Amino acid sequence: MEEVKPDRYRILVTGEILPEGLALLQAEPDFQVDVRTGLPRAELLKIIPAYHALVTRSETAIDRELLDAAENLKVVARGGVGLDNVDIDYASQKGVAVMNTPGANTIAAVEHTIGILLALCRRIPWAHHSVRSGEWKRKKFLGTQLQGKTLGIIGLGRIGSRVATRLQAFEMQVIAYDPYVSVDKAEQIGVPLVEFDELLQRSDVLTIHAPLTEETFHMISASEIARMKDRALLVNAARGPIVDPEALYEALTSGKLAGAAMDVFEEEPPKGCKLLQLDNVVATPHIGANTVEAQINVAVQLAEQVIAALKRDEFENSVNMPIASREEYQRLRPFLELAEKIGKLQVQTVPGRVAEVSVEYYGEISKYVKPLTVAVLKGILAPILREKVNYINAPYIADERHIRVRQTRSFEPVDYTNLMRVTVTTDQAEQTVAGTLLSRTIPRIVEIDGFGLDVEPSGRFLIVRNYDRPGVIGRVGTILGNAGVNIAEWRLGRLRRDEEALAIVKVDDPVPKAVIEEIERLDDVVRVLPFEL
Ligand code: NAD
Repeated sequence: MEEVKPDRYRILVTGEILPEGLALLQAEPDFQVDVRTGLPRAELLKIIPAYHALVTRSETAIDRELLDAAENLKVVARGGVGLDNVDIDYASQKGVAVMNTPGANTIAAVEHTIGILLALCRRIPWAHHSVRSGEWKRKKFLGTQLQGKTLGIIGLGRIGSRVATRLQAFEMQVIAYDPYVSVDKAEQIGVPLVEFDELLQRSDVLTIHAPLTEETFHMISASEIARMKDRALLVNAARGPIVDPEALYEALTSGKLAGAAMDVFEEEPPKGCKLLQLDNVVATPHIGANTVEAQINVAVQLAEQVIAALKRDEFENSVNMPIASREEYQRLRPFLELAEKIGKLQVQTVPGRVAEVSVEYYGEISKYVKPLTVAVLKGILAPILREKVNYINAPYIADERHIRVRQTRSFEPVDYTNLMRVTVTTDQAEQTVAGTLLSRTIPRIVEIDGFGLDVEPSGRFLIVRNYDRPGVIGRVGTILGNAGVNIAEWRLGRLRRDEEALAIVKVDDPVPKAVIEEIERLDDVVRVLPFEL
């Protein structure tokens, strides 16, 4: 049922918001904006039922109690990135969108990165102190230039891509390593994508702009530094734990690296961090985002998002999926999980950079095209998103990354009452995976590239593609057995006329890369792809 919009929206502002943002909210003729900072909690609980939007900072706990009281609330908006004070899951169940403002500080972080790099190259902090102390030692401060040098970027996202274009203007050769960005986007800004090793070997300056994930934790440690150019510079204005501080200290004292510029630390504030004692380290206290303009941007973006959400049902930068009612959420939940798992399976098993995601829906599931496509995208993008994995912002991120998204639906059921089929196309391959919910609750993967299957999507698996000749299964089993990998299930895909077969093997233990390569060397095996759900 279409929701009836109120004539007048009431907005409660409990946190500081700069006048530039407040003015935008107040300018909406059908908005009534009440600024009530420092409101006692009991008072807040009393007045909240009247409001449609709540603009806050970290001081207000948006918990179950508050969300239960907030009968008319549609949006909680919070400046900055942190959302620790909000019970996001419960907000989703109550149909309340929770928004933050990532990206509002992109330019601030970009300019700071370049600032600390130049400070390092020209020894500006040390020269400054020297002049202030009454010295005039021009020879002591011999710098290095950026022109003609190679800049290697790890993570070509919002910040990395803008650091790239700005340092291209310094006539640097810019290259990047980013396994998830589309070739399209990199080409558009004229930055060749290279493998990680090549990046390490070629860069005179290495700058990090990737999120902190399992994959990027200590991504720069002793063995990576060893592969870097002698006397290279390292810049980290992303997240501290991406660099192993011990290894960096060792490299900076041995002379392997000439210097480092850092805005972020493994522990913040850094306690007893030896790097801070070094004369070839420029350090700032995580101030990349701190500019007047970034703060104004946060306020303006926050106001624009609240307006778009209330008036146009647009939820950019919402970190959750507001669903109309709790009942609907319960109904949708298993479908969402299935969709996300299909996305996860795809991103782990299709080689290359994702260029297109196409989803077909059949049967009753077709009612939920929008949230389910988002859930597929979330599964695909999860390893590359920032710390907070978002539901609603997944389409925006896909768009920013030039990933085409297509969806079609048909209410006619096919072999199953409900079926969703997801095709992911990359610059190297294409794969289709279909799933269903048995009895509307039990998720099953029922097809991969036309091979019929019946797999419960939970656990560790291998996709084994092979020619259907006698003995293949046995030989694969023997190799796994010899490696101490227990096989829990073996599901064979329906054969096609070309005699290619596909099996999904559920394993109890992780399968080492060397074992996968050994299986792939078997005569009749085409490819082995591990994935985990
Ligand atoms: P973004 O999500 O727009 O871009 C991150 C990029 O990293 C993406 O293109 C992604 O594909 C890539 N990536 C993910 N995993 C990777 C991997 N394993 N190897 C290489 N690349 C990988 O994020 P953003 O807004 O550009 O922010 C980048 C970083 O800067 C984040 O860590 C963020 O927390 C940090 N940041 C710091 C400050 C500060 O105050 N110093 C301010 C803003 C952002």
